[in-house]
Amino acid sequence: MGKEIDPPSPRIDENEIQATNRRMKSTDSAAGLRNKDWQSRMATLERLDHHATKQDESALVKALSDRSARVRRLAAHAIGCQRCKAGPLSVDVVGLLAKLARRDPVLRVRRVALHLLGTQMKSLRVRRSLQAALRRETDPQTRFVITWGLSRHSGTR
Ligand SMILES: [Zn+2]
Repeated sequence: MGKEIDPPSPRIDENEIQATNRRMKSTDSAAGLRNKDWQSRMATLERLDHHATKQDESALVKALSDRSARVRRLAAHAIGCQRCKAGPLSVDVVGLLAKLARRDPVLRVRRVALHLLGTQMKSLRVRRSLQAALRRETDPQTRFVITWGLSRHSGTR
């Protein structure tokens, strides 16, 4: 696993991230996640997506319950995106994404979590989370994302 796979739509809106980055100067640490301005929190997460270390992990996890849905979406990406990382995070990525997919009130946040779940290493645990999500979610686009993920986790026991 670990190979690059083109995800289905929808995904993190790269234009939105880049626009945020143009407006904001990146801060130097996860401290930016405590900024009142959601755009600063976005810029911090965008940087952490590529450069997070163990020290940043708890701040990343906390950002999954940020009051801004945009920030939660990007936090999910920063936690679940293996492609951008030099090394894996030591947090329970699957558990965190599954919880977000189950509990977030905003559809787009759940959808990003579900997509990222699908991109994780093939496992029965992911498959079960996705199957449960498929029973809950009624939005066609979200069901498409779940089905795509399930196709990557089929045959797990
Ligand atoms: Zn990434």
